[in-house]
Amino acid sequence: MLRLARRLSSRVPDGVVAVDRRGLGRLGYSALTSELERIKVAETALGKELVSMIKARGPITVHEFMRQCLLHPKYGYYARPGAERNFGLEGDFITAPELSQLFGELIGVWLVNQWHELGKPGALRVVEIGPGRGTLMADVLRATRAWPNFVGAIQVHLVEASPSLQPVQQRVLGAVRDDDGWRDATGTRLHWHDSLPGLDDLDDVPTLFVGQEVLDAMPAHQFVLTSGGWREKLVDVDDTPDSTLHFRYVVAPTPTPASRALVLSSYLNDADPALFQREDHKTIEVSPSALATVDDVARRVAKTTGAALFIDYGKNTCLGDTLRAFKRHVQVHVLSQPGLSDLTVDTDFAASVRQAALVPDTAVFGPVDQGEFLGRMGIAERLGALANVHDITDKQVDHLISASERLVDPAQMGQRYKVIAIVDRACGPPAGFRLEERVDPPPDPLSVIKP
Ligand code: SAH
Repeated sequence: MLRLARRLSSRVPDGVVAVDRRGLGRLGYSALTSELERIKVAETALGKELVSMIKARGPITVHEFMRQCLLHPKYGYYARPGAERNFGLEGDFITAPELSQLFGELIGVWLVNQWHELGKPGALRVVEIGPGRGTLMADVLRATRAWPNFVGAIQVHLVEASPSLQPVQQRVLGAVRDDDGWRDATGTRLHWHDSLPGLDDLDDVPTLFVGQEVLDAMPAHQFVLTSGGWREKLVDVDDTPDSTLHFRYVVAPTPTPASRALVLSSYLNDADPALFQREDHKTIEVSPSALATVDDVARRVAKTTGAALFIDYGKNTCLGDTLRAFKRHVQVHVLSQPGLSDLTVDTDFAASVRQAALVPDTAVFGPVDQGEFLGRMGIAERLGALANVHDITDKQVDHLISASERLVDPAQMGQRYKVIAIVDRACGPPAGFRLEERVDPPPDPLSVIKP
């Protein structure tokens, strides 16, 4: 791809834009827990709360730890005041829409395409789950002005769990309030919801969903393989003077409700036992919130003849410990700064597509590598068109090329980031996907569970 980009990229100075390192796998976090310093790291405000909670109730699940760290109403990483500063070069990580306007523009094109596919209905809902700073939706709405009938048809819904990010999104989208609620400068209606179940169903209005790097922010349970079987990994307080952290991992001595229910439903029983001989396969992760979100979206897609797109970094298995923490673009210890660092797990695409394909009347496609998807959506052509806009500067062109390369290059974000789509069974493959990339519905999950 990007012959144009290759030709021009010799002019791009290194390090102009960053890559979202969170998606790049385990990078090591030696910086924070220096073995030399035997003093405890400073306790965060949330850390203090978690210590008292664990002292009163006993160790908490990794799922509970992650949930509190991200969405504790006062100290959670995404919920705390000023959470918008987490994003971007100055923050802790940079996501695809924050890297380049082209990303949101191409998602906009995908949405318009689906609207065409549905016969250009006069009313349509566009729902974004986990919009962060609102950059992707701002780019979608700007790019789709080229299709006035689409803009005239849509109503936008933003599903954002963080109370402090909702006002940021309102600002970025130029939202103004009138008697009927929020609207943007072109009159498009905007609605905010704290959670997906809070969005009511309008059966006769096709609904298109986008979830960009949100599934990885949904808490996961972790289970480790012990001589007694799969046991849940928990977080306990660490009071010992020779540890620099205030928390440590422990393994539940007996099955927990989550290990009983989730290990059974994770299709592990169908896996080749030889898989578990590998040291890095002795942990599995299951995110019920991610799967519930995919399930809810798939049901609404089927009910409203809609479509959905999820983009994230991830793997095609539940095997492996992928929980990581990031602060200022550097990986730090997961337990070191509760509430102050970003926590993320790889999305399990195999589980997500299975969950969606189990919903009647859906067709599920992917995962397709992000680089491939953006190539098929025409990123090179869009880049070429932008580079020829008369008032664009060389510096802006360099930036666009460099950012696009980071999005599509397999060694950067092009391969680790993947895309899945869910459409109504009656529809053909959505833009960016091929018929052969359709996923067959899995067998009845219960039929693969061995006692
Ligand atoms: N999509 C944005 C932001 C990614 S960060 C981007 O690519 O830049 C994850 C976002 O999901 C944040 O806005 C966070 O507050 C939100 N989020 C996390 N858990 C959520 C949940 N359960 N429901 C809705 N939003 C959630």
